Amino acid sequence: MLDASNVLGVIQKKDKVAVKMHFGEEGNTGFINPEYAGVITKEIAKKCASAFLSDTNTLYPGRRIKSDEHKKLALEHGFTKEVTGLDVIIPDDTKKENKAEIEINHRLIKTAKIVRLFVDAGAIIAINHFKGHILTSFGGALKNLGMGCATREGKLAQHCDVAPHVIKENCVACGACIKVCPSAAIQLINKKAVVDKAKCIGCANCIGACQTMAMFVFTESGIAVQEKIAEYSLAVLRDKENKSGFISFAVKINKECDCWNMENPRIAPDVGILASNDPVSIDKASLDVVNKACGKDIFKAAHPNQDGMVQLRHAQEIGLGSLDYELITL
Ligand code: SF4
Ligand code: SF4
Repeated sequence: MLDASNVLGVIQKKDKVAVKMHFGEEGNTGFINPEYAGVITKEIAKKCASAFLSDTNTLYPGRRIKSDEHKKLALEHGFTKEVTGLDVIIPDDTKKENKAEIEINHRLIKTAKIVRLFVDAGAIIAINHFKGHILTSFGGALKNLGMGCATREGKLAQHCDVAPHVIKENCVACGACIKVCPSAAIQLINKKAVVDKAKCIGCANCIGACQTMAMFVFTESGIAVQEKIAEYSLAVLRDKENKSGFISFAVKINKECDCWNMENPRIAPDVGILASNDPVSIDKASLDVVNKACGKDIFKAAHPNQDGMVQLRHAQEIGLGSLDYELITL
């Protein structure tokens, strides 16, 4: 597939290549098999001056919130140099030198906050896991780029008009969410957590803290988040014209993303691996082939409140890529 698609043809011998992927939260099993990733990364390494595997730290509490633990977890999940041929670099985005501000002056995002190493790389190859997502219905190349390359501040900016929703029957009034909320947006009323949407800054800390899954459904502004993801993706690729490639694994298609610290239900059969140099086309093609295999819009069935096409339509509108594609099956 790598040869037939020539997806790595954008890499030149002089390039330092950032390979962006998601190593999976602790307890998650949906992340891409490191040995599959290794087939790709070893090909990348042959074509360039240097390459590294990377991801950014999370907004919510967990082992991936800090660089050292995040890297350890990636190695524990099998993304070792022996398997992939590359070092894992997780930049500490609390340090000024690891942040970059990219002006794009779009409708929702004026200046995007991106982890600098993706901005400085000569080329980006994103290895994406195509699966369901609580907020964007499905996540693929755009999610991996837009949210995945952002600093924590950038992630917050993409989430910031989204307040979590409390599923009252799951709330046991433990108060854990209140302790981690940085903006005092949660209080207990009649022994149930209640979020003050005016105060919530969308940091998602409470979602990570809640052990009973009472605090996890984002329902209100999935549209804005998806459009921001598209605009952030544009910022990540601003200086990468003909210098980016996307490989999406439409396998282990779970209802939720690889940030979940647990196994979650598979909603579709394994379909295959896709490659393209257009991040919009590859997401649309991934969506179509998975839905075709299921005989229905499986992501709509899994997340009825979200329309994942929002991110793709907006991405096409702002010139990031095309919803059209020609699918060549090998
Ligand atoms: S952490 Fe969860 S269970 Fe505890 S009070 Fe908050 S919403 Fe309720
Ligand atoms: S209520 Fe809002 S601000 Fe408070 S922890 Fe949850 S997401 Fe963050």
